[in-house]
Amino acid sequence: MSILYHPDRFQRACRSIPGGVNSPVRAFSSVGGSPIFFKSAQGAYLLDIDNRQYLDYVGGFGPAILGHSHPEVVAACQATAATGMSFGACHDNEAAIAEKITQLMPNLEMVRLVNSGTEAAMTALRIARAATGRNKIIKFTGGYHGHVDALLVSAGSGATTLGTPSSPGIPPQTTAHTLLVDFNDLDSLDAILSTHSQDVAAVMLEPICGNMGLVLPDPGFLSSLATRCRKHNILLIFDEVMTGFRVALGGAQSLYDCTPDLTVLGKIIGGGLPVGAVGGKRDLMSLLAPTGPVYQAGTLSGNPMTCAAGLATLNVLERDHNHIYNHLSSFTRSLTQGISTIAHRYGVAMQTQQAGGMFGFFFSSKPVRNYHDACASDTHIFSQFFHSMIAQGVYFAPSAFEASFVSACHSDVELEHTLSAFDHTFCSLASAKQTDIA
Ligand code: PLP
Repeated sequence: MSILYHPDRFQRACRSIPGGVNSPVRAFSSVGGSPIFFKSAQGAYLLDIDNRQYLDYVGGFGPAILGHSHPEVVAACQATAATGMSFGACHDNEAAIAEKITQLMPNLEMVRLVNSGTEAAMTALRIARAATGRNKIIKFTGGYHGHVDALLVSAGSGATTLGTPSSPGIPPQTTAHTLLVDFNDLDSLDAILSTHSQDVAAVMLEPICGNMGLVLPDPGFLSSLATRCRKHNILLIFDEVMTGFRVALGGAQSLYDCTPDLTVLGKIIGGGLPVGAVGGKRDLMSLLAPTGPVYQAGTLSGNPMTCAAGLATLNVLERDHNHIYNHLSSFTRSLTQGISTIAHRYGVAMQTQQAGGMFGFFFSSKPVRNYHDACASDTHIFSQFFHSMIAQGVYFAPSAFEASFVSACHSDVELEHTLSAFDHTFCSLASAKQTDIA
């Protein structure tokens, strides 16, 4: 199925923007067709340029946990825009948001704000290498930490394979220090450590993977990982760009018996504006300039608009945390249970997972525990599913390998609408399969 939603707009964009988009997944390349152009977003809904409304499970790829255009976030942005959007100098909200983050995530004693998750991941690596005097890093196959050269390493390589760049333009020397292991596979980690433990500065991972679809850590996986890191004096870096303030107020690190040395944040802490942050123990963070020798800087880092939007978002999350996080979890639980029931009814092979305000599903008959399992899922069915859901006014990310996000504004009405769209879609998929067989 290949549907062109707004071809004229897309052709125009393609004339002056590479591929018509400013971030590749938005181009619909893996699902076919051309992107929808939106003009506004409110609560749980997006509105396209033809005034069609879509129930949104993308949430700006994560930030919109309170729903789009939350009045307190909008008011904070409006007030700040009127008093100065960028000083390139100190202001009170920088300390205010740093204090809020350190209070809500106590493993972070200090925080440096940057402008994207990519920048934050790059900075975390630099701190880890400087602190340990080691160069190698371990990342997990299918884990995404932004488009940092050293971390953009071919997913799908074998457990003990040295990293090879997954994009032209990255010198092999840059990724030669990146070692890959499989998520949920302590044996592959031990194999790498048996040879390289003295050279490894850090293990970096998404504690709950969200960039190969949603994949949860096996019970005990994260704590066993932390034990190995401690034993070999390797720093543990949690990339909570997606999971921070999303799966719980204290992030994934509050849900598992595991303490990272450094944490990378983004998305929600910017309230919808560009942001990233790296935080951790005081001694590690003090290595950053100007207190320490590790250089890092940014013209717009900690700018007033981002701090105001982020702080307003975190204030609401903290104030209403009982209600919000209970609601998010119960919504995703009801939704994934409902999806599984419908899939079973129509004989659609499907795996679902949920964690707080995020959930995921794979068209696969086997449980998905790592990237290889995720890649074995049926992406062709996903494309049909994706366009069918759009036809019913439900918008998922245009890729089989993205997690889905729920906001505080998704309620029973939205749950019912979504499940009925799943029912209709799976019914059509099942009848199409029957016709093919006949
Ligand atoms: N880390 C994770 C876990 C992410 O999901 C992302 C982006 O989706 C990033 C890092 C990169 O963040 P950004 O897109 O803000 O550079």
